[in-house]
Amino acid sequence: MKSLLEKLGIQENNRGSCFGTDGWISNDGGSLIISTNPTNGEIIGTVETASSKSYEHILSKASTSFINWREKPAPQRGQLIRDLGNALRENLEPLGELISLEMGKIAPEGIGEVQEMIDICDFAVGLSRQLYGLTMHSERPGHRMYEQWHPIGPVGVITAFNFPGAPWAWNAAIAAVCGDTIVWKPSEITPLTAVAIQNITNQVMTEHETSGIFNLLVGNGPSIGQTLVQDKRIPLISFTGSISTGRKVSKQVAARLGRSILELGGNNAIIVTQDADIDLTVQAVLFGAVGTTGQRCTTTRRLIAHSSIVDELINRVMGEYANVTIGDPLDTNVLMGPMVNEEAVNNMVKAVQRAQDSGGTLLYGGKRLPELGPLFVEPAIIRMPEQIPLVCEETFAPILYIMDYEKLDDAINIHNSVPQGLSSAIFTSNINTAENFLSVGGSDCGIANVNIGTSGAEIGGAFGGEKDTGGGRESGSDAWKGYMRRQTVTINWTNNLPLSQGIKFTGKEKS
Ligand code: NAD
Repeated sequence: MKSLLEKLGIQENNRGSCFGTDGWISNDGGSLIISTNPTNGEIIGTVETASSKSYEHILSKASTSFINWREKPAPQRGQLIRDLGNALRENLEPLGELISLEMGKIAPEGIGEVQEMIDICDFAVGLSRQLYGLTMHSERPGHRMYEQWHPIGPVGVITAFNFPGAPWAWNAAIAAVCGDTIVWKPSEITPLTAVAIQNITNQVMTEHETSGIFNLLVGNGPSIGQTLVQDKRIPLISFTGSISTGRKVSKQVAARLGRSILELGGNNAIIVTQDADIDLTVQAVLFGAVGTTGQRCTTTRRLIAHSSIVDELINRVMGEYANVTIGDPLDTNVLMGPMVNEEAVNNMVKAVQRAQDSGGTLLYGGKRLPELGPLFVEPAIIRMPEQIPLVCEETFAPILYIMDYEKLDDAINIHNSVPQGLSSAIFTSNINTAENFLSVGGSDCGIANVNIGTSGAEIGGAFGGEKDTGGGRESGSDAWKGYMRRQTVTINWTNNLPLSQGIKFTGKEKS
């Protein structure tokens, strides 16, 4: 562990406020966050939280750096992101392993998360030459009309524990090529990953003789997070986290007429039709429900299977669950690591009990595994006769609720009858059924997959969901527009001043 931390510049005690290589600011009144390994409870390191003085220092640095950074041509900004992508490539394995160590996801998933960070950098480099605006035909002769996109300012990025790196990168790589500077408040559960990432950005900023583009503020949500959310100097808050916190954040940003991008909880389902390829379905369910110990926003939480195949599907899925090795996420044989903390374990155990009290049948697992450690659990499979309110909640744990249906319309109705709208999937070999699921009356989610599970997404598409998931979009496609301000420009190159809508403002035509 020591050599891994050394490679990433992590010490036993770390500062948590930073704007560049020489910009690690001292604590000055802030408290300490202790980062522990969920696998064995050992302390990995400590990080100082930002005091109000260091907060001000970082905000002022992010604001002044913005004034210079926004003037740099976007393709030149892209060169810095190209180098950031390369620096992440060099750190792919150690950073992925640190994510596993601190958060508990298995190493291939930790490394996959860093790969996602690299991928978004590659995307952002291309984007730096494609921040296109439209040209419109003016209704007035001798006029030209077009729109252009300008950087918006320092962007506040608040992230969740379960993806300690990728959502920062989705925001930071895109915002940086857009000409914004970034102030990151990572989850207090994963501060060391944030320190490691800041070290990588520092190296790249120093190579480019700059600082203050990527800034870090480690601290608790209700203190530093809250201050950032309410800060008028931050025109945009991009928030990733639970629905309950997102609701508060959204209100506070709206109250100061700021902009927010909200990436909140999901309650993702797979519909399995009678003609589905069961082999494919089982693989997708296993990764979707058990991967990251059920702690992904896109985790498969509900399986809605046709009554003619539901029993076979349950047997097959249970067979796969029985082969899941649970243990240290850095052990290559392990498929499922620990939960993140005691509260998460308690929430899971309570939900499993509530489901049974409400008529559900526990078919598999759902128990603590104290012999492995206090944060280890068995993944649970629960057959539900109907979609009770508990099933409509996001319990952030590996619990899979299985329900059955007779008609596709009923399946879609069950599917959509939850408050969240993030990721969705159907397994079918019938193109009509697939198109039905994708039609306007089909899935109401931001992500809809056919013969692919709910979990995970490529960076090229816009990522996010509807309803209580918050409506935000990040990462690929045209999500970059959220990080810029649009300006509509009209130029008159004649000696006349015609008004729009043909208005005559001369007073001469009065009767
Ligand atoms: P959380 O809401 O507890 O915390 C998220 C972040 O918000 C943390 O950095 C926290 O410090 C901060 N925070 C807490 N209170 C705050 C406040 N009052 N003001 C400002 N910031 C505050 O979420 P979590 O437990 O870390 O993460 C799990 C949740 O995140 C799940 O619901 C999951 O579905 C969701 N999530 C969503 C996505 C997505 O892209 N849709 C991705 C990952 C996680």
